[in-house]
Formats: sequence, structure tokens, C-alpha cells
Amino acid sequence: MTDRYAVIGNPVAHSLSPEIHAEFARATGEDVSYTRILAPLDGFKEAVLKFRDGGGRGLNVTLPFKREAWRLSGRHAGYALEAGAVNTLAFDGPHIVGHNTDGPGIVYDIRNNLGRVVRGKRVLLMGAGGATYGVMEPLMREQPESLVVANRTLENAIALVGHFEKLQQYAARGIVARPYSALAGMQFDIVINATSAGLSGAMPDLPSGLFAEGALAYDMVYGGAAPFLEFAATQGAQVSDGLGMLVEQAAESFQIWRGVRPATKPVIARLRALRKR
Ligand code: NAP
Repeated sequence: MTDRYAVIGNPVAHSLSPEIHAEFARATGEDVSYTRILAPLDGFKEAVLKFRDGGGRGLNVTLPFKREAWRLSGRHAGYALEAGAVNTLAFDGPHIVGHNTDGPGIVYDIRNNLGRVVRGKRVLLMGAGGATYGVMEPLMREQPESLVVANRTLENAIALVGHFEKLQQYAARGIVARPYSALAGMQFDIVINATSAGLSGAMPDLPSGLFAEGALAYDMVYGGAAPFLEFAATQGAQVSDGLGMLVEQAAESFQIWRGVRPATKPVIARLRALRKR
């Protein structure tokens, strides 16, 4: 019998996860289906339980529910334990197990697909939502020289840095929270946009001169307008959208659910080709 999976979020229509998992299923021969679920903003838990009780096997969780998914999980596995955010739910009978594959996804993409090294680099991470919580531990384990977390609502960035106090040991020059207005005069080797600003065609308020020579500008958002990447390109940075991360985190989820990690490079290439049409 076909095992059912889905991505749940609000909004969710933009998600490419169904196309990616269909490719994975074809490539691995796994008998799975994968759809989208739009959950009401106040109805995440009910939507998850309905899917599980209807025989669903697992869910990917997208914005704005990743932190709520962590609270709903009866057990946390791997990076999800410290992350306080969950992007993958696996149903083990009635039990809900929460995982987080966003961090391994972006680290894999930056290292293996883009060929960039995080170790010893000055990193700026923008945003303090579920995606940022998810990537913190795997990113810090790569041992950047320093990490600045900037966010529109500074209190959220301060709370995030406090939450990950234990990760300070991985950065020689530490992890700090800053408002965007404090970034003037600073330079970074890797700048990651983990805000959802791009979904509404906006970008964080960034000063010029932020990118060190040869810097990488990485936007977790993929598809559509990318004002942050356009800005970064005018500043001389190498740019990448979040399509590679999306496919890599999906592969990690597929492995959790099905026990096999599908090849990702052909899927990334196919999606890029489709989007150029
Ligand atoms: P979230 O929990 O809703 O958090 C959104 C974050 O964006 C908050 O820090 C928010 O700041 C900030 N923000 C929103 N609008 C902004 C604006 N106009 N200017 C500056 N900051 C703004 O969302 P999330 O789950 O963290 O996801 C963030 C983004 O990453 C989404 O677009 C998602 O699609 C993308 N993502 C991609 C992948 C991938 O695989 N490629 C994986 C995960 C996430 P405040 O705290 O001030 O509200």
C-alpha cells in the first residue's frame, strides 16, 4: 500500500517539496505519495493529528509552524532536541517523533554543492524564526570564526542566542545578536538570509560594504523575486538561493522515513532546468 506523506504550512502553495519527493520516490522505487496541506494559523495541531489518524506516515513542516511542531513532538531526535524547531515529523504508531533536517541540509549544500568552507569564516545569519533555530547547531559545528545573528525584532535574536548558549564554544570569537542598524562597518565571508522577507519581495535593511572579498550570499528562499540576492550581486558577492538546501533537507527527511538517502544532484539540476523554461 502507498505510504502517505505531506508538507504542512501556511502559506504552502509555493512549496516544491511534492515535486522533490516524487522524484525521490521514482529514483528509489519507494511506494509513497506526497501532497501539500494548508493548515489554518490556529489549527496546526488539529491538522497534524487528522493526517496521522487518517494513516499518514510523516510530515514536513514549513513556516510558521516549526517551533509549534517541536512542542507537539512527543520525542525529539538528532538536532531537533536542541533546535527547539522541527521540520520533519515521523509517526511511530500514535507517537510523534520530531526531527530537524534544515541544518544538515544547508551545511551539505554550502559544503558539497557550493564547495565553500564555513570553518574560520565570519558568518552573518539574518532572521530568528524556525529556520534559524533549525540551522544553528549544524552550522556552529562547522566552527565559524564568529556568528552574528541579526533580526528585525532584536529581542527574538537575543532570545535565540541565549537559547544556544552552549554553542558559543564552537566560534573562536563568539555568537552575538545585533540589529541591522549595527551592521554598518562590519564585514562577513558568508551571509545567510533566513528571513521570510523575500516571500513578500522585501529584504532586511542592510548597509553597503557588508560583503568581504569573495563572500557568499545565501538566501534560504527559492523561486520568485530575490531582492537580497540582487543586492548581494551588486556588492560583488557570489550568490545562491535555497534550492539546494531544500533538496538536501528533503533527502535527509526521506532517509528518516524510508531508510534510504536519494541522490540529490540530478533533482537540483532538473528543478533548475524546469525553472528556466
Ligand atoms: P518564520 O519562523 O516565520 O520566521 C520569519 C523570520 O523572518 C523572522 O525572523 C522575521 O523577523 C523575519 N522577517 C519576516 N519578514 C521580514 C522583513 N520584511 N524584514 C526583515 N525580517 C523579516 O519563518 P522560518 O520558518 O524561519 O522561515 C524563514 C524563511 O526560510 C522562509 O521564507 C522559508 O521558506 C525559508 N526556508 C527555506 C528552507 C529551504 O530548504 N530552502 C528551509 C527552511 C526555511 P521578526 O522576528 O521580526 O518577525
